[in-house]
Amino acid sequence: MNKIQSMATKLVASLILPLCFMGPLGAKEGMWIPTLLQALEDEMQAMGLRLTAEDIYSINQSSLKDAVVHFGGGCTAEMVSSQGLLLTNHHCGYGEIQYHSTVENDYLKDGFWAMSMSEELPNPNLTATFIHRIIDVSARVLASIDGLDGEERAEAKNKAYSEIEAEMLNEEHLTGGVVEFDFGNQYFLISKITYKDVRLVGAPPSAVGKFGGDTDNWVWPRHTGDFSVFRIYADEDNMPSEYSESNVPYKPAHHFPVSIKGVKDGDFTMVFGFPGTTEQFLTSDAVEHVIEEYNPMNIAMRDASLAVINAARSSSDELRIAYASKQSSIANAWKKWMGQSAGLKELDAVGTKKALEADFKKMAQKRKFSEYRGVIDSIQAANLDYFPYMEARRLFIEFVYYGPDILLHSFEFSNLIEHFDTLNAKGELDKHLDRLLHVNEEYAKNYDASVDQGIFAALAEAYLGFIEDDLKPEEFAEDFARFGSSEEYASNFYKSSLFDNPNQLEALLNSRNSEAIKALKDDPAFELINELRSNYFAKISPSYSSAKEKIKTATAAYSRGLREMYPDEVFIVDANSTLRLTYGRVEGSSPHDGMTYNALSTTKGILQKYQPGHPDFDLPLDLVEKLKAGDWGQYGTGGDESELVVCFTGSNHTTGGNSGSPAINGDGELVGINFDRTWESTMSDILFDESRCRNIMVDIRYVLWIIDHYAGAGHLVDEMTIVR
Ligand code: ASP
Repeated sequence: MNKIQSMATKLVASLILPLCFMGPLGAKEGMWIPTLLQALEDEMQAMGLRLTAEDIYSINQSSLKDAVVHFGGGCTAEMVSSQGLLLTNHHCGYGEIQYHSTVENDYLKDGFWAMSMSEELPNPNLTATFIHRIIDVSARVLASIDGLDGEERAEAKNKAYSEIEAEMLNEEHLTGGVVEFDFGNQYFLISKITYKDVRLVGAPPSAVGKFGGDTDNWVWPRHTGDFSVFRIYADEDNMPSEYSESNVPYKPAHHFPVSIKGVKDGDFTMVFGFPGTTEQFLTSDAVEHVIEEYNPMNIAMRDASLAVINAARSSSDELRIAYASKQSSIANAWKKWMGQSAGLKELDAVGTKKALEADFKKMAQKRKFSEYRGVIDSIQAANLDYFPYMEARRLFIEFVYYGPDILLHSFEFSNLIEHFDTLNAKGELDKHLDRLLHVNEEYAKNYDASVDQGIFAALAEAYLGFIEDDLKPEEFAEDFARFGSSEEYASNFYKSSLFDNPNQLEALLNSRNSEAIKALKDDPAFELINELRSNYFAKISPSYSSAKEKIKTATAAYSRGLREMYPDEVFIVDANSTLRLTYGRVEGSSPHDGMTYNALSTTKGILQKYQPGHPDFDLPLDLVEKLKAGDWGQYGTGGDESELVVCFTGSNHTTGGNSGSPAINGDGELVGINFDRTWESTMSDILFDESRCRNIMVDIRYVLWIIDHYAGAGHLVDEMTIVR
């Protein structure tokens, strides 16, 4: 049960229920800031931790945090050897696996294994970031903004940030800065070191790494080997360097020992990583808005693009590869939103939040809490202003960033189109043309004009259908209305644009024809992206930001008020893509009446789900044979009936961004890789429920078995520190 939920239940039902009502030490809500773990040490040890808080996060000695990596800025990964080897999810390395895949070398379909370091594949723009220090600077920042408002407050805050950063980011290679937590109630300076040479070492076939596809995504029981293997390279001083052949494997301050002793129901587990966003302090009206308006709108936008992309991907291998990443990133949240809405309704999240708000208002009537009077009303008034802009902003993002590629591609050419003569005069034209030729070449790899046109047609109609009249880009809406159908509009648009044809663009760039290049200003794609952007910056973004700021200020008070009014309760600090530790147990669940989920799944389930020819459940024949043969070697559960565990669930509080995070046992050893949550947990970003929220991890023994027995890449296992 969520703290907010449990508060509400307790407060409403009876004020005398004792705290132990929340159940035995098991499921735990909370994503803990690693510097504050001391306070939780006793509880974690009582649950099975055999380390100290200092072993997990320390600035004086190497600790677990030195083996945790922010991978590509959006996922987590963990170091598993002294030679820079790291593990993350298959879905986190998916873009890189796709990048190296061709119809001839189809690493997405067949997997990829570097049999020596020289075969490892470099990845432009992929980064691996380590946390150097996390320092609480709340007192200093709060003192500098005390009593200030608006512009003055923003300026004072920026000044405090700059001073702190100048003082504390004082070593070469340190990046980072001050980060706001809990709506501005807390501030931490986070310093980091980012490595830029990260190479692909191995990936299983998608039939393993993405087994179950969209059907099984966010679902338990699960049988996905969602992992991939990379290696970080550094310069000779072990420091970051751009890709270079002379770079050497990075030596981490710590790497996780890998335990093949296995996990069982009830075992203590921790997940250490970079959870992205949670919204535990949304008020009841905002939750209602998510359920009734926001999620349905977003789902409909993605229904529209997925219909086109899925059909294209099943029509040819080229398109299957070209649209792999785009499809995954669209489908992942699309499916989550559906589960989230269902879960929020089922748990009566709106009612729960209303009960808590009513109680908060009552408490605020006491003199000592008088500063919190009106807080809920302020949030809700700001929400009313905010919702239309929040929707319009989201529609802009869906159309431009998850929609047809033609729009952003044309935008890449802005500088050239608008400043051709200046670039030429300054002698910068060649550099510029070269860069665009490269961008255009990359674009061409995953671009198909007819698929893009289909996505455009579907989304233009949905976008204009959803956006409020007074927030619409007017010319676009008028143009669109002149055509009989969205398809007709799109067909005319693509016929008149050059940006749907990378070959012609390449020829144009090579021709250096200034008049023709400047004429791209009137290209419909370039015109539309510019109109969408200026419409966004003029009509949407300012009101969005000011309403959001008001909500933030009032929610900061709400959060402070809750902590003061109910000092014995723990209210979590929302995730913000910073390093957090969460802990719980290996645990199944019983989210619905009359059914129970076991905590562990085995390879038996893979064979039960196997359906030759099915896009989500097909398997390579050599894998089927190996699974049937059942030679698990040192990775099985042992005994006559030895089985191979594939995945397990736990009661660790996770979210997006925790993908790829190490699942760690009480001894600090790696037992799995976090990659998902169960369907009944998808509302946990808004309302966590301890009885049913479960994260899903791939068992490390399955990972090692695939690497060692299936892929024949046992040299990678030899590199790890295996605990038997
Ligand atoms: N599978 C999830 C994701 O991709 C991880 C999670 O949200 O639990 O975002």
